[in-house]
Amino acid sequence: MPKTLYNLLNPTKTRLSDLLKGTEGMSEDDGEELITPEVNEANRTMVAEEWNLGPEKASVDPKANGPYWRKMAKLWMVEEAQARRRFCSNCEYYDNTPERLAECEAVPLDKYDMDGGGRGFCVKFDFVCHSLRVCQAWECKPFENPDMEGED
Ligand code: SF4
Repeated sequence: MPKTLYNLLNPTKTRLSDLLKGTEGMSEDDGEELITPEVNEANRTMVAEEWNLGPEKASVDPKANGPYWRKMAKLWMVEEAQARRRFCSNCEYYDNTPERLAECEAVPLDKYDMDGGGRGFCVKFDFVCHSLRVCQAWECKPFENPDMEGED
């Protein structure tokens, strides 16, 4: 979502990256680096505090982090089993293209990388997120099988 539209829809959720860089309202292609470690940490903290980013220690174990997933299920008004299928990795804001991953290398690995299941970049909140985590703003990523294109 373009920053301007994001800010229109979320007037109280201005991204810290915009405030810190003084670039609120600018387009995504203003020639700046993707992210700095400082802005990444500030944005991640904001998403954890305001959008329930988690679980902090992610896991592929379907029984792990019960309190977190039950909380998310309640917030999304879905069954816990359904909530547990929602990850950054299948969110429409998750960009894990090789080009993005290369840009993310500007942010050194930290403890969130160790059990996150692999990196991606959240284009909604501008930070390095991880395959096995999620936040309340999750939106389902559409999937199309290229082998099925044109078939009806
Ligand atoms: S918006 Fe999507 S990609 Fe970004 S942190 Fe939330 S779930 Fe992950």
